[in-house]
Amino acid sequence: MGERDSLETRIKLVKERVNAACKINGRLPNSVTLLAVSKTKPIEMLREAERLGLKQFGENYAEEAKEKIQQRPVLKSEWHFIGRIQSNKTRSIAQHFAWIHTVDRIKVARRLASHCPEEKTLQILLQVNVDSDENKGGIEENKLDELIKFVLSEPNLNLRGLMTILSKGTDPQKGYSKLRDLFNHLKEIYANEFHAWDTLSMGMSKDLEVAVNCGATIVRVGTDIFGSRTNGKGF
Ligand SMILES: *Cc1c(COP(=O)(O)O)cnc(C)c1O
Repeated sequence: MGERDSLETRIKLVKERVNAACKINGRLPNSVTLLAVSKTKPIEMLREAERLGLKQFGENYAEEAKEKIQQRPVLKSEWHFIGRIQSNKTRSIAQHFAWIHTVDRIKVARRLASHCPEEKTLQILLQVNVDSDENKGGIEENKLDELIKFVLSEPNLNLRGLMTILSKGTDPQKGYSKLRDLFNHLKEIYANEFHAWDTLSMGMSKDLEVAVNCGATIVRVGTDIFGSRTNGKGF
């Protein structure tokens, strides 16, 4: 996929890849949500992407996202926070986002709940460190129970499922099927407590097919939609 292709072409190609992966796995195309990861990208590009039919946007940095969201470029879209959560940013994140993919500790969950505006419910995913890489976020499997119980106890947090970011060296098939197995296992254990356990957020530009193959319901795609982020200009 070339950097010079139009946004329209790139979105079309990514959607075709998602649909093809669904077909191979006997899944319905609408069983996978394409989350457009728009970090570092200018607002005009997001507006254009929305015009071209994307409805879900993912941002990593609370300050950058707040500016974009306040300019309301994406009137009908939903915002997903997918970055590392600093605890001093939980107010802004709870105010501006519908979904939060990266909850990995009780302290953050508690702050999100207490900063959540009245009348609002936050859709929560727990980030799991499936490959136990100390250099990144995510909770270890053996600490999940405590966090799950806490999130379930907060009325304005709606626990929807799991998310992971794999380390560079991890085989995607291995990492993503591990998250799926954990997701299914928890679903059985908590059958009576879970009311909306339906989301697996995994897969990015390079490995979205593997993720769909392993059961992803949200794939998070930045580069293959908006182009690389390495030139510092955002496109
Ligand atoms: C940046 C980012 C993505 C998108 O990655 P690409 O390789 O550009 O598709 C997905 N998920 C998270 C958590 C990210 O930070």
